[in-house]
Amino acid sequence: MLICEILQQSTAVLATAGVDTPALDAELLLGHCLGMSRTELTLNAKDVVPDTLFLQFQTFLNRRTEREPLAYILGVQEFWSLDFVVTPDVLIPRPETEQLLEKVIAFYSDEQVGDGLLVDLCCGSGAIAVVLAKELQRKVIAIDISFEALLVAKTNCEKHGVSHLVSLLQANLLSALPFISNIACVVSNPPYVSRQEMASYMQPEVLNYEPHLALDGGQNGLELIERIQKQLLSRLIPNGHLFMEIGTEQAQALCNLFTRKETPKQSFSDVSVQKDYAGHDRIFHAKMNSQTL
Ligand code: GLN
Repeated sequence: MLICEILQQSTAVLATAGVDTPALDAELLLGHCLGMSRTELTLNAKDVVPDTLFLQFQTFLNRRTEREPLAYILGVQEFWSLDFVVTPDVLIPRPETEQLLEKVIAFYSDEQVGDGLLVDLCCGSGAIAVVLAKELQRKVIAIDISFEALLVAKTNCEKHGVSHLVSLLQANLLSALPFISNIACVVSNPPYVSRQEMASYMQPEVLNYEPHLALDGGQNGLELIERIQKQLLSRLIPNGHLFMEIGTEQAQALCNLFTRKETPKQSFSDVSVQKDYAGHDRIFHAKMNSQTL
């Protein structure tokens, strides 16, 4: 069959399967099999596709028809204009998280930030840690509870030449770091989806394929964030910062949680929430008070 015929037929198949961007996905899958860019596919539309490559494309197409995410089929996801290796052990990096990084990077260029530790908490594929290490040329500690996710993060650190800057640590949130650990900044995209959201609105791509460990924030979506808040109270240095991606319904609850006074001396200030490009509350920031225990 010709490239243009395959694209036409497979676009229709994907559309029937309910895929959001059927033409784009068909092109990316075929381009991946043939080693061609989308422009090259257009330029060579009348080329015949060899049988072996067509068979390979068919398997990929079947997987996408089952609503397996494109990134898992291709094995990569573009994020911050870099290609990140992804497997079903890690969440696929999303554009919202790029906005989180923009905020952190702007903060580091505007403020005099000392030598305190910079932590990517719940690092998954390592997308946050890699971008921070590359852009800031600082050391980053990347923590995840999943060993399999850390293997993916390791691959991404190597791929992007930042292995010397990123230390990978398998741990349950910050529990492996001692109370006096000089943490100046925590950046995190923790699991924050509530059980109700998991059960109701999620796309099959997310629900059936992405790791629930990286999504499931417990009953109200806030279980891990509450534990993070508690751990930060005894670990973040005075004037240290937290930048975190949150669920769109969680802004108020988080502002309450982070302004609640645990003891007169332990609390956060400068609590703010920024919207993502879709206009949803998404990026949370809090600063540790200067007077801590
Ligand atoms: N943004 C993701 C989603 O809605 C959730 C990411 C997360 O829980 N950290 O699918």
